[in-house]
Amino acid sequence: MTYIASANRYEKMPYRRCGKSGIQLPALSLGLWHNFGGVDVFENYRKILHLAFDSGITHFDLANNYGPPYGSAEENFGYLLDKDFRSYRDELIISSKAGYDMWPGPYGNWGSKKYLVSSLDQSLKRMKLDYVDIFYHHRPDPETPLEETMGALDHIVRQGKALYVGISNYKAEEAKQAIAILKQLGTPCLIHQPKYSMFERWVEGGLLDVLEEEGVGCIPFSPLAQGVLTNKYLNGVPQDSRAAKQSGHLQTNQITPERIEQIKQLNQLALQRNQTLAQMALAWLMKDKRVTTVLIGASKPEQLADSLKCLDNTNFTTEELNHIETILQN
Ligand code: NDP
Repeated sequence: MTYIASANRYEKMPYRRCGKSGIQLPALSLGLWHNFGGVDVFENYRKILHLAFDSGITHFDLANNYGPPYGSAEENFGYLLDKDFRSYRDELIISSKAGYDMWPGPYGNWGSKKYLVSSLDQSLKRMKLDYVDIFYHHRPDPETPLEETMGALDHIVRQGKALYVGISNYKAEEAKQAIAILKQLGTPCLIHQPKYSMFERWVEGGLLDVLEEEGVGCIPFSPLAQGVLTNKYLNGVPQDSRAAKQSGHLQTNQITPERIEQIKQLNQLALQRNQTLAQMALAWLMKDKRVTTVLIGASKPEQLADSLKCLDNTNFTTEELNHIETILQN
C-alpha cells in the first residue's frame, strides 16, 4: 500500500508559536518512546503515524535510546520515513536527543561533546536523515561543564546536523543558565521538554516563568502520566497496558488506591464536560499559553483518535479548574 497523506490534514489542528522563534508546532505532538520499537507491531505503529500526520501532527519526537532495544524506534521511524513520508520531509519537525545511557563505556552517556556529537551521527544514520529539526540534551549532567554541553549543541547546529536545539529535564535555574550560554553562542534554545501533567506539577514552580521570560517554548512529556490519566486503570490493570508490559516504564505500584480514587473523580468531571479523561487531561495542559505543544504517546490508532478530540473543548470554567485542584489535593 502506498501512503498518500490526507488532503485535509491542516484543517483542524491549531499551530502554536514556539517561544519567540519562527517555528509553529501542532497543539499535539507524537512521541515514539514506547510502541515503535523492535518489540512492537509494524502495521500498528505505521497506522498510528499515518493517522497522526493525516490529523495535522507535524512533530514526531524521538531519542537515541527509544525502543526497546535501544535505537530501534529511530530505525523503524527511518524505515517508514523513507517508505511513506519522504516526500513530506519538509512538512515535518523531527527531534532526537542524547543524554541517557546509550552504549557502553564513558562516551555513551550524560553530556560530553564526544557523546552528543557521535550520538546524533548515529541517530541520523538510523533515521536516514541529513539533519534533525530539533536536537536535545536529554537531561542535565552534574559533572560536565554546562559550557561544554551547550557548546556541543551549538557545534551540531553549525555542522548543519540540527536546525534548532532544546533541553529536557533541566530545572528552572539550570535551564536559565543553559539558555544564557546558548544565547551567547548565537544558537538560541528553541524549546524545553519537561515532564508535566495534572499529576506532575513541578514546572509551575518557576520553570514556566523562566521559559516565558526567555522566549523559549515548552513541550510537556507524559501528559497522560503514561496512561494513568485515562479511564484504562479504573477497573484494574489491563493485559495490554503499559503497566502490564515487561518493556513498559510504568510500574503497577505507581497506580495506588489514592490515585484510582482521584482518577474516578476526574473521570466523572470529564464526562460532565462531554470528554474522556484523556481529552480533559490534555486540554488542561493546553489552557496555559506557555505550553507550545503537548507531547503524547499512543499504543493504538484508536487512542490517538480519542486524544485528538481534546481539541473540541479546551476551555475550562473557573469552577471546573477549582474542582480539579480539589480532587488533586485529596
Ligand atoms: P502519555 O502520558 O501520553 O502516555 C501514553 C500512553 O498512555 C500510551 O502508550 C497508552 O498506554 C496510553 N494512552 C494514550 N492515549 C490514550 C487514550 N486516549 N486513552 C487511553 N489510554 C491512552 O505519554 P508518554 O509517557 O508515552 O510520553 C510521550 C512522549 O514524551 C514519549 O514518546 C517521548 O517522546 C517523550 N518523553 C520524553 C522524556 C524525556 O525525558 N524527555 C521521558 C518520557 C517521555 P498503553 O500502552 O497502556 O495503551
